[in-house]
Amino acid sequence: MIVTALGLLSGGLDSTLAAKLMLDQGIRVQGLNFNTGFCISDTRRQLKRRGRKEGTLRNEALRAGSDLNIPIEIVDVSEEYLSIVTNPRWGYGKNANPCLDCRIMMLRKAKALMPKFEAQFVFTGEVLGQRPMTQKRFTLRQIEKQTDLDGYLLRPLSALRLPETEAEKSGLVDRQRLLGIAGRSRKPQFELAKRLGIDEFPQPAGGCCFLTDPNYSRKFFDFNKYKAPDRQINLEDFTLLKVGRHLRLSDHLKLIVGRDEAENNFLERYTLGRWAFSPVDIPGPTALLEGSSSEQDRALAARIVARYSDHEGRSPIRIQCQKDQEIIAIDAVPIESDLTAQLLIN
Ligand code: SF4
Repeated sequence: MIVTALGLLSGGLDSTLAAKLMLDQGIRVQGLNFNTGFCISDTRRQLKRRGRKEGTLRNEALRAGSDLNIPIEIVDVSEEYLSIVTNPRWGYGKNANPCLDCRIMMLRKAKALMPKFEAQFVFTGEVLGQRPMTQKRFTLRQIEKQTDLDGYLLRPLSALRLPETEAEKSGLVDRQRLLGIAGRSRKPQFELAKRLGIDEFPQPAGGCCFLTDPNYSRKFFDFNKYKAPDRQINLEDFTLLKVGRHLRLSDHLKLIVGRDEAENNFLERYTLGRWAFSPVDIPGPTALLEGSSSEQDRALAARIVARYSDHEGRSPIRIQCQKDQEIIAIDAVPIESDLTAQLLIN
């Protein structure tokens, strides 16, 4: 009898080890990887930053799948994830990360995909006690109940410290060959990786999600605070939070300033319906104004763009401002640094 397991595979060390433990028991593994729209390496790929090593720009789940010789299904949840991330039932972690809601959503999807892949159970690389929000004993149980996977969700790395699953009880999985890792130390995983011959995995573990990033989170919560209550949120809103310096000019107005050539190029893709700013004669950033603006607002934005340009001194420089077909030029004196600091969200 062929035993098939569906595994959540991020390409990080823990999920890779969990998959390897399953494979070593002769279990057929089908990997699932979820695109939430908040993956840092995906955004780096979009930005195509110069000078980055190739290794930081790949899809780690596909890389791990290829290393382990297992198929990976990429599941795009980015649209429906928006409502979770803005209104999580279980709340946020330390930053803007709704990890518990996120895990529940992914595992519900995995449960729904079990028939398609003829899988008898689902497994993850979760380690008891490793992450404060999702990997406590109580939350691991909560996830099983909320996803209707009670008894069908195996955590191979910590299984010996958790109740036996149906897969173990029925002999589909040999419990003796599972592990009892627990706690925040990563040492047991590094030792296991060495033993199993796994030498490729991204560093640091778990650092792939924008929502755990304090800088992104500041922009995220600022966006949530000031958006009009009846405004529909879309993916573009969150995409723009990933790049540039963000400066709040008023309750309804924000300026996004590119920090390098890659970000400037990226912002230029989002000029439709927005005022876009850039210096005319000297190198400097591209900036986008979010929200409806007055002439005075645009003059302030131009002064900020002048401040972040290569211009030195206090003389005015010409800034081009364009919204769709309308183009104007503003001669702007660079704004003082302490004023920009007051406006800076991040
Ligand atoms: S770190 Fe991000 S992707 Fe991972 S569970 Fe939390 S919210 Fe989801």
